[in-house]
Amino acid sequence: MTKSLLKVSLFICSLIALAAFTKKGPEHTEPQKPALSTIIIDAGHGGVDPGARGQNSTEAAIALSVSMKLGKAIEKAMPDVKVIYTRTTDVLAGGGTNVQQSLRYRASMANEARGDLFVSIHCNAAGLKPGGWYAKRVVGHKNKTILVGKGKKKKKKVVREPIYETYWVKNWQHGTETFIWAADRVGYKGDAINQKQEEGGEGGENVEDSANVLDLNSPEARIRAQLYEKKYFAKSLQLATMIEEEFVKSGRVSRGVKQRNEKGIWVLQATGMPSVLVETGFVTHTEEEQYIMSEKGQEEIVNSVLQSLIRYKALLEGKSHHPAEQQPDSSSSARETQQTGQQIPGANRK
Ligand SMILES: [Zn+2]
Repeated sequence: MTKSLLKVSLFICSLIALAAFTKKGPEHTEPQKPALSTIIIDAGHGGVDPGARGQNSTEAAIALSVSMKLGKAIEKAMPDVKVIYTRTTDVLAGGGTNVQQSLRYRASMANEARGDLFVSIHCNAAGLKPGGWYAKRVVGHKNKTILVGKGKKKKKKVVREPIYETYWVKNWQHGTETFIWAADRVGYKGDAINQKQEEGGEGGENVEDSANVLDLNSPEARIRAQLYEKKYFAKSLQLATMIEEEFVKSGRVSRGVKQRNEKGIWVLQATGMPSVLVETGFVTHTEEEQYIMSEKGQEEIVNSVLQSLIRYKALLEGKSHHPAEQQPDSSSSARETQQTGQQIPGANRK
């Protein structure tokens, strides 16, 4: 009786040991994956969706050109990092003509490629027209004699009339900004969608369609947003801050790190990885459009993003020598800059 009990317990013990061994097995044999081995570069818009329009260019064209240059620069500076593009030609990523389906494609291809980072390249737009527009203002008054009354009662009357002047309004908004997903602003989320639908959405997307494809209030989207907040928000914020710092170093005007939470950048939280959306400048600002279209301008933009990626990689690998750069931790700084950003009158989100 005692002997058989001992046999049984020995058998159970060896089963447990075997289970523990097989469970631990893969962890021992699989080498540690580097913290940043695959970067997804996403050129915004494309194909039927030109994005924002400048006087001489479109957002889609600039985004593609900058993205291709950025990919090559990363491959050269960080040979151990694999670069994957969501598009390499002037098409809507994934083909087709549906903007929202393209966003879904961008996210799923990034997830399937097991990216460690998602960088989306865009351009900004603001104001009534690219470059500027004419407006009228009152610069004084003049007296004018008019006739009032009928027949014999008709008499002269002097009235004061405004003098108008036509003047040129420069489309002044310029600078860079980097967006991260605003995972925690649930109330704002619904409002943003409704507002966007009234406006007809970015790039003339089909609203009815997009409501089915990207329901930000669906349980799936909520879970993703929570996951993003928990796992990727801090890192996304860290990188976004570095990108804006590097833009400032190269002499650009930085509008800061901002949070956004709407369909157009749904892709940021749908990617299971830290993700940022870089607005490289305003196509609607005459001089800035010239700059972001130029070889020199694009090289400088690419270099700023590259320098921030080098710093970000060093941070992940624990090699950062920058005193302010410690392991990413949740911070309220983006929320503060977001509020600052909202004070800019007429700021147009693209
Ligand atoms: Zn855009």
